[in-house]
Amino acid sequence: MDFLILFLIYLAVCLSCMVIAIKFSRQSQECFARIVHHVTLVIGPVIPRWLQVAVQLALHRLIHQRNSFFLVLHLVLEVAVYGEYSWEVFPYCLELGFGHSILLLPYIMLLGKMYFFYLCCTRDPGTISPSNHKQLLRVFTYDGILYRHARVCPTCELVKLARSKHCRVCNHCVHRFDHHCVWVNNCIGASNIRYFLLYLVTLSGMAAVVGTVTVRFLVQVALMSNLPQAMYVNAEGEHVPVGILFIVQKLFLTFPRILFMLGFTLLTFFLLAGYTAFHFYLVMTNQTSNEWYKHKNSCQCHIDNIYHRGLIANVKEIISPETVQQGFR
Ligand SMILES: [Zn+2]
Ligand SMILES: [Zn+2]
Repeated sequence: MDFLILFLIYLAVCLSCMVIAIKFSRQSQECFARIVHHVTLVIGPVIPRWLQVAVQLALHRLIHQRNSFFLVLHLVLEVAVYGEYSWEVFPYCLELGFGHSILLLPYIMLLGKMYFFYLCCTRDPGTISPSNHKQLLRVFTYDGILYRHARVCPTCELVKLARSKHCRVCNHCVHRFDHHCVWVNNCIGASNIRYFLLYLVTLSGMAAVVGTVTVRFLVQVALMSNLPQAMYVNAEGEHVPVGILFIVQKLFLTFPRILFMLGFTLLTFFLLAGYTAFHFYLVMTNQTSNEWYKHKNSCQCHIDNIYHRGLIANVKEIISPETVQQGFR
């Protein structure tokens, strides 16, 4: 049972890290900075001054400046999962007679994901500049609640557009600002939200197919070994069928790396699927993450969303934003 406890601890740690990373990557950078500040106050007296300065500098760069840390982490995790899949799951499945189409599907999903990931990282999200400001001003009207007339961005020195926001990390205003995503090291706005949605869909799909193939492999191994029919002798000397926990433990001891990879992949899938569903809900109701967050924290319970124009118009706004129609990249 020790291995199962270890495995459950591993899953709990993975889940906690993912939740923190997702939360940190969205609206909670100030919250994260506050936590770091409090932790520094508590452990500060026992840590050398130079180390504190170095950590603060590193965290400042991580939180407030564009950097490649999460891009690299993203790729390292992917290499770890696909390395294990290619090294063990793939050859074992071939031996068991799995079809090539199902085994190659994770690689096809990976190619699709890499393409949309690249577009998210490199495409302009909708940066507002003096040259396109006048054009973009006409796209959305001010709702008078979240967005009001005559406010000026002190950094860009331009009148703030409805549905825009100044990104402190990228240091410019973004049209139809959704959020700054550390995983793609770019803002998500009017011009790249469609790529971001496709990136989420392919990423969730990738986790789903890797998980499905791996589960299928483990089930087949368990069936071939007759594990479900196995019995053990209990303290009273009776023959009792082994339970699901025994089967999982047995598989864990036989294929530890595959089980670790599967645990991580399944957790990733459920979190990503939830996050993707949330973004599709935002598309259907024509809200950005930024607006949803502001509505949630607003004291006004029922705020009319004037940008909601029906499902088809809302989807069209994502697929073909007015910025693109006007020749703005
Ligand atoms: Zn600005
Ligand atoms: Zn940004």
